[in-house]
Amino acid sequence: MLLQITEPNSSLVQEKLSQALAIGIDLGTTNSVVAFSENQRPKALADALGECLVPSVVAYLEGAPIVGEKAVDLVDEVPDQVVTSSKRLMGRSSAEAQNISGKFTHIISDQQSPDTMVRLKVGNEVKTPVEVAADILRTLKNQAESALNQSVERAVITVPAYFDEAARQATKDAAALAGLKVLRLINEPTAAALAYGLNQGIEGVYAVYDLGGGTFDISLLRLTKGVFQVLATGGDAALGGDDIDRLVVEYFHHLSPEVTLTPALYKQALKTMRFTKEYLSHQDQGMWALPGGKEHPLDRFTLEQLSTPLVEKTIDICRQVLIDAHLTPKDIKGVVLVGGATRMPLIQGRVIEFFGQDPLMNLDPDKVVALGAALQAEALTKGAETLLLDVTPLSLGLETMGGLVEKIIHRNTPIPATFSQEFTTYQDGQTAMKIHVLQGERELVDHCRSLAEFTLTGIPPMVAGAARIVITFMVDSDGLLTVSATEKTTNTHQEVAVKPSYGLTEEDYRRILAENANQGAADIKSRLLIETKVKAQQLLHQLEEAIKVDGDLLTTVELESLAKAMEALEQRLTDTDQVAIVERKKTLESISVPFATRRVKRLVGEAANVPLPSEK
Ligand code: ADP
Ligand code: MG
Repeated sequence: MLLQITEPNSSLVQEKLSQALAIGIDLGTTNSVVAFSENQRPKALADALGECLVPSVVAYLEGAPIVGEKAVDLVDEVPDQVVTSSKRLMGRSSAEAQNISGKFTHIISDQQSPDTMVRLKVGNEVKTPVEVAADILRTLKNQAESALNQSVERAVITVPAYFDEAARQATKDAAALAGLKVLRLINEPTAAALAYGLNQGIEGVYAVYDLGGGTFDISLLRLTKGVFQVLATGGDAALGGDDIDRLVVEYFHHLSPEVTLTPALYKQALKTMRFTKEYLSHQDQGMWALPGGKEHPLDRFTLEQLSTPLVEKTIDICRQVLIDAHLTPKDIKGVVLVGGATRMPLIQGRVIEFFGQDPLMNLDPDKVVALGAALQAEALTKGAETLLLDVTPLSLGLETMGGLVEKIIHRNTPIPATFSQEFTTYQDGQTAMKIHVLQGERELVDHCRSLAEFTLTGIPPMVAGAARIVITFMVDSDGLLTVSATEKTTNTHQEVAVKPSYGLTEEDYRRILAENANQGAADIKSRLLIETKVKAQQLLHQLEEAIKVDGDLLTTVELESLAKAMEALEQRLTDTDQVAIVERKKTLESISVPFATRRVKRLVGEAANVPLPSEK
């Protein structure tokens, strides 16, 4: 335990004050929002100009980074020095980043070490997504401090439900860089549900439909006893409100092919189209012009017609996610609308039609996630330290003999959670044990994702199966894992915080969930086969060792028949016929019974010669 030492002159009172409050942050792909809650009334905190939405855009020129609207303005002038949508790269390796949709002209491809964190070339500097996120978080922290007139050190930050360990850790690292202590990371759909107070409502399954600037996410949450469990997620990481802008600009360009759109003019067109689109969410008629072209009327009807294929795509994804979760729209207790683009009446109408009910949408859809985060932050500062809210998205386990995975913490376990399991050694005299931590739903190591590997050394040499090694998995409230191993007789202890250098992609996560549903039966079969093989190998190994030590207890004939049975079993080990292996193992076991009996007798006889301590 480390002692904490305060700075000599720090005022305790001041510390108490700043520790008493915590903010909620929605660190979005397009926009970020900071909010604060008092007496369970959360509100978004505005900047000096009264704006609550901070574009998640950072420009790196000379001097301090420029964040938000001002950075957006710089996109036209110095595009190479402005970073947008970097959230998509959080926790990704440089190899993975190449496959992520979206235009990242800045990615530095690193052929030598594709497994390291992706880096971006921005002007003359190199930045990681973590640093970019830190610059956004620092801006939000400052904005909150000005609005609250108080220093702020703690925050609840939201992340997409599909964010894996690496992406969550990257978010925490960014917060630390920005001088914020993360009280908890919570899932975005969970935060939205909290903002609507669903945690105090009726238990059941809720759908959170989130259409942001560049991403679509649908999450199904099950609420039980105030805890949300993510049942399923679906989405498209390259589908959002900005795509509507693109479609409409291209439509107009098609109508006026004489207008030449340079990349810079195209960007400008997108920006004005975005305003027109947002205007048409509450007006029927608008005007719009291609840069340098003449003004065209644009009515809501035309906008909706152009947007329909895109909206239908989101509904198709909703349908698929329900199918994956074995649910129908009728099973959904409530629907929450999140993301600026859900302001479009077309989208609201289509969601109502699909789910057959009115969604919750009276809160600002682009602020609702931050509001939920602020509520959670307030609850946590009120001492509700063990407030259960989220669950583990995928099972966590260990590799055991034969490449099998033993699950220690199952998927959907409410967090924070700690689980231990006792393991033992496989071989006589084994002094080290490889601890391989895996994440996934499948039974075989090869089908799960490797998170970390370490070796517990210093196990005292004992016969196989005598050592008692307790392995503990601890998932903290942010979903981050620590694994420790202790050998009980000697108290040898080793511990690792599992920090993978790169992570699962969103598609991987969804694929794992889907595969799990399909592969169950096949997996159990191969698990049984491997378990049988491991046991057979163990038996063979034990017999070999026993023959070495006590072979003199056998007659030549006995030794021969034993060796024959051993060989017969050994031959079957490469087979996939589990029944045949079991049969031969049984034969071998029965043949070796007399040998075992004689060995026990010898052992007992030897032990009898050793004086017992009490007799001394
Ligand atoms: P993200 O979650 O990706 O950070 P937001 O939730 O802030 O993003 O959504 C941004 C998107 O919402 C943009 O495409 C923006 O044009 C769109 N949007 C915001 N307000 C409206 C509106 N009134 N009507 C239609 N779309 C809107
Ligand atoms: Mg969002």
